[in-house]
Amino acid sequence: MIPGWMKRIARERISILLKLAEREVSAHKERSKRYVELARKIGMRYKVRLPKKYKRKICKSCNAYLKPGVNCTVRLVPKERCVVWRCVECGRERRYPYAKRKQ
Ligand SMILES: [Zn+2]
Repeated sequence: MIPGWMKRIARERISILLKLAEREVSAHKERSKRYVELARKIGMRYKVRLPKKYKRKICKSCNAYLKPGVNCTVRLVPKERCVVWRCVECGRERRYPYAKRKQ
């Protein structure tokens, strides 16, 4: 078991790293990826999930911080009722379904 105080510090460090990753994404791409990589490593090491708001913003295959209009595209596929986030760095796509409209 990992003590609560360790998890708390881990969460704190993760959120600092992800903020830095967001800030550096346009000017220092590689540095931004490194921050994401570290944040994910801390999360795994201390069994802490990444904050929900970052869930879609991290490319799981190349560790890029995804910022729409900078290094990723977000599009709607109404046919599939999906939002597709595509990482421009490595081409990886993730689909997120959205709710069906009530008829
Ligand atoms: Zn990627």
